[in-house]
Amino acid sequence: MYSYQSSKALFERAQQSIPGGVNSPVRAFKSVGGTPLFIKKAKGAYLYDADDNQYIDYIASWGPMILGHAYEPVVKAICEKAQYSTSFGAPTELEIDMAELIRSITPNVDLIRMVSSGTEACMSALRVARGYTGRNRFIKFEGCYHGHADAFLVKAGSGVATFNIQTVPGVTAAIANDTLTCAYNDLDAVKKLVADNKDEVAAIIVEPVAGNMGCILPQPGFLEGLRQVCDSNGIVLIFDEVMTGFRLALGGAQERLGVAADLVTYGKVIGAGMPVGAFGGKREIMEVVAPLGNVYQAGTLSGNPIAMIAGFTLLSEMKANPSLLQELDNKTLYLKDGLEKVLHAWGQPYTINHLGSMISIHFGPHPVTDFATAAACDIERFKQFFHAMLKRGIYLPPSAYESWFLNNALTYEDLDATIKAVGESLAEL
Ligand code: PMP
Repeated sequence: MYSYQSSKALFERAQQSIPGGVNSPVRAFKSVGGTPLFIKKAKGAYLYDADDNQYIDYIASWGPMILGHAYEPVVKAICEKAQYSTSFGAPTELEIDMAELIRSITPNVDLIRMVSSGTEACMSALRVARGYTGRNRFIKFEGCYHGHADAFLVKAGSGVATFNIQTVPGVTAAIANDTLTCAYNDLDAVKKLVADNKDEVAAIIVEPVAGNMGCILPQPGFLEGLRQVCDSNGIVLIFDEVMTGFRLALGGAQERLGVAADLVTYGKVIGAGMPVGAFGGKREIMEVVAPLGNVYQAGTLSGNPIAMIAGFTLLSEMKANPSLLQELDNKTLYLKDGLEKVLHAWGQPYTINHLGSMISIHFGPHPVTDFATAAACDIERFKQFFHAMLKRGIYLPPSAYESWFLNNALTYEDLDATIKAVGESLAEL
């Protein structure tokens, strides 16, 4: 039986100085209940909490630990680089190396700008699209999450959905008014919104595979349809590849699904766990960014040398060994097959959505293709499932509205242990 005494004490202490005891809401176990685990260290596929409990990790820091925690080449590179100072506020050759590396492995990126988070990446990409088109409005999809910039906090996924926040206080009506939303996978609704807002829509931003309402796949033709609508109406298509980039394929969803975006946003993984994001895309559009153009965007720590060396080392390893992503995909497929077997034997309705190394279980009788169908699932059951798994040493995202992220340090024994834990947990529910 796990003890959580130290995490409990730390959570008590944290709440005295940090809102809700956490520096990012999704870390709190608010929706699943209980005490968030305070993590002491991690190695490979395993997390260790303040009570020295070991867990098999299916969050991977929400994506970036794609080759496992404390990946030795990355740790070594960070330590070496840190000796030469942690920031200069001036350009470095490493930033060019990074931009060239990303350009060499991702499609449709002529120019790329580094920032410090996925939020900044999406917020900046939207500003660029607005500056480029001279239009104000944009379309996002219900249940998709693009960070916490005001414009995106309308019908957002991730923590906003987890905590069922309908309207975010502090986001003014004037800002929300320019955010047009429709259901994921509903191409007709997109066409109608574009027609109703003729010459007013600057951008359509989409998670090409959604990971912030559980994992939800684009239906055949959806992304292609968005591409077409954008082409016909002078709209900038933004793929938010913060989760999918360098995971679904080296070249992200663009490569795996064969649809080109005009602008792409990246995050997390390109810093190997250091705070990083990036936005990039077609030269003609990116040339509006300051100091080339007047669309202002800046960051004191953007292109930070420690973040750059961490990400550069990770992405270089992945580029040199494309089989790593294939191994990860194979492991996820193995997990999926194992999950299907135990869930089928359990006999209650469920959906597993899966592509590459993104996967999640929804407890409900209907296919899950958008936010409404995700929200109609049995969230209570997910909570019970989460805790049943946690006490068996499996650390899943603490929300039904998040994808699981596999990492390549997972062994087939870990996957077998996970499948066994799922079987036992379902039996307990
Ligand atoms: N876009 C997507 C698709 C995300 O999943 C996230 C974070 N989970 C973000 C943007 C925001 O990234 P960050 O938390 O680094 O600001």
